[in-house]
Amino acid sequence: MVPCYIGLGSNLGRSQELLESAMAALAAVDGIESVRCSPLYRSRPQGPSDQPDYLNAVAELVTTLKPHGLLKELQAIESAHGRVRDGQIWGPRTLDLDLLLYGDHVIDTPDLVVPHPRMADRDFVLRPLLDLAPGVVIPGRGSVGALLAGASSHIRTGIEH
Ligand code: ATP
Ligand code: CA
Ligand code: CA
Repeated sequence: MVPCYIGLGSNLGRSQELLESAMAALAAVDGIESVRCSPLYRSRPQGPSDQPDYLNAVAELVTTLKPHGLLKELQAIESAHGRVRDGQIWGPRTLDLDLLLYGDHVIDTPDLVVPHPRMADRDFVLRPLLDLAPGVVIPGRGSVGALLAGASSHIRTGIEH
C-alpha cells in the first residue's frame, strides 16, 4: 500500500457536487482505500482569466495500483464527470485530477511526472495538502509548509462541506 495525494479542481458545472462525486468514485476503485478529503477552497483561475473561479481540494488515499494504473483511473473518473479535452491549456473544466505524490517516488515519463511539476508553486494545492498532511515532504522540493510561504496566491476563501 502506497500513500498518495491527488489534487482535485473544478470550475464548470456543479463544482462542489462534482468534487464530492469524484471522491466517492476514487473510494470505489479496486486497489484504492482509506480516502480522506481536505477542506475545499475557492481559487482564482490560473491561465486564462475569463473563466469562473475554481473549487480545489486534495485527497489522500492508499493504493496497491502502480503509478500509471492510478493515472488511468484518474482519467477515467475525469471522463465520467464530463471532462472534455479541447487542447486549451489551463482552460475551464468540470473535473481535473492530478497525481501529486506517489509515496516518495520520483517518476519522469512522457505521460506522468511525479511529484506533479507545478504543485510546489500553487497555494491551491499546498494549502489543502498541508491541512491533510502537515508533515509531508515533496521529494526534491521540501516541506509543504515552507513551500506555501513562497507559492503564488490564488485562494480566495475556504468552503464548508
Ligand atoms: P497542470 O498539469 O499544469 O495542472 P492540467 O491539469 O490542466 O495542467 P491536463 O490537460 O489535465 O493538464 O493534463 C495534461 C497531461 O499531463 C495529461 O495527459 C497527463 O498525461 C500529463 N501528466 C503528467 N504528469 C501528471 C500528473 N502527475 N498527474 C496528472 N497528469 C499528468
Ligand atoms: Ca491540474
Ligand atoms: Ca490534470
